[in-house]
Amino acid sequence: MSSDHGTGAPQAGEAVLSTLNVDGSRRWIRPKIERGRFWRRRLVVAWLLIALFTVLPYVKVGGKPSILLDIVHRRFTIFGATFMPTETVLLMLALLGAVLSIFFVTALFGRIWCGWACPQTVYMEFLYRPLEQWLEGGRRAGRRHQEGRAVRRALKYPLFLLISAFLAHTFLAYFVGIEQLFDWVRSSPAEHPVAFATMAITTGLMFFDFAWFREQMCTVVCPYGRIQSVLLDTSSVVVGYDGRRGEPRGRMGQRRRESGAAFGDCIDCRACVATCPTGIDIRDGLQMECIHCTQCIDACDRVMERIGKPRGLVRYGTVSSFNGERPRWLRPRTVFYLAILVVVFGLLGSALARRASADAGVLRGLGAPYVQRDDGRLVNQLRVKIANRSDEPRSYEIEVLGVEEAKIVAPQNPLSVAAGETGMAVLFIETSPDIFERGRREITLRIHDGIDYDRRIPYRLLGPFELRRLPAAGD
Ligand code: SF4
Ligand code: SF4
Repeated sequence: MSSDHGTGAPQAGEAVLSTLNVDGSRRWIRPKIERGRFWRRRLVVAWLLIALFTVLPYVKVGGKPSILLDIVHRRFTIFGATFMPTETVLLMLALLGAVLSIFFVTALFGRIWCGWACPQTVYMEFLYRPLEQWLEGGRRAGRRHQEGRAVRRALKYPLFLLISAFLAHTFLAYFVGIEQLFDWVRSSPAEHPVAFATMAITTGLMFFDFAWFREQMCTVVCPYGRIQSVLLDTSSVVVGYDGRRGEPRGRMGQRRRESGAAFGDCIDCRACVATCPTGIDIRDGLQMECIHCTQCIDACDRVMERIGKPRGLVRYGTVSSFNGERPRWLRPRTVFYLAILVVVFGLLGSALARRASADAGVLRGLGAPYVQRDDGRLVNQLRVKIANRSDEPRSYEIEVLGVEEAKIVAPQNPLSVAAGETGMAVLFIETSPDIFERGRREITLRIHDGIDYDRRIPYRLLGPFELRRLPAAGD
């Protein structure tokens, strides 16, 4: 932040954040697109990702959507496998693995995700921004041809809205499935007002983000950007400026005037600043606003080539290497993250390998623990909950093992459960009162579907607790 006039306070018109002036007004950033070698590589990656994002909802694996995050029905399908919220260990391990992977990759390669793969960067820099510059003529033309601006803007915003609507529909297809989405699109909004409102709000949010909010999503809102300072260290790969080579900087005119003075390679042309989509100066060091998009590398390389100097004054490197030290790939945090990742993914792999086609649980019935009938027999009430994780409806039979004369009375045995659904059966287990010892009897419930699910669950029946008189002394 610049300040001044001797008071130390920022003056109106000066920037406090890279995107904000001191008077609170927005400092609009119109970066010049540098079409250098990194930009060309990112362009290929970006369009592959856009194609993947657009096509995935249509792709089926084993007749199921490749990815369907059905929050309403609490079912998550990933590449043909459907997971239910009851699979807490799996979901917890997957989540932990994802978070740790982010930590590990960031510790090694900095914000490579932000610069190369984040949807915010990909859509902003390779779809919305190029379209805007094509319509408005880019950084300089935008200033030169003011007269045509209103017309171009009039075309720009409807186009942005159209693209945002398409993105919102594609995004929501991941949550409702492509068939449901097409049904909604073909029918009147009055038939599905909630879905229509969700779609309209998502479209509006995307339009707001890409048309107006833009880089502020990275510099102000995104939590990943906020925690960089704890995830990065001096050996993490970042986009940086080699101050030892570049300083003291000096413009070409100054160099000619002061021909005897020693200058570094930076000619202070500010091409790296003009291209930065978050409006910062890479020469100020590692900054939270830097999304490692490599645009400043391309800009500076172009300048270096033009003045006959080697490329790489701004380049991928580590803070250590920019300071002339050797970076360390193996360091406590990377070893620690890697070790935990191996454990977490090992556990996840083993849990997936042992994953059964159903999940059953037994709960005691509500109310009295047992009832004694007029004929003296005892009845325990149980509730058996079964989640069918397979792709077809299944019938689950419940048996009692361990007590020959026990009889199950149940309106639903076998219990039929639709694919991906959870069913509940209420059971009454009748037994003789003689089988109980100290008011309890251990039994085993066998639940099986005759196909590939066969589980035995230990359970304790409750019965009368008979107090026996202890023998008195001298008896
Ligand atoms: S400083 Fe360079 S890498 Fe960082 S956001 Fe700006 S242009 Fe991209
Ligand atoms: S583009 Fe390179 S030479 Fe120009 S100001 Fe930036 S670092 Fe210096």
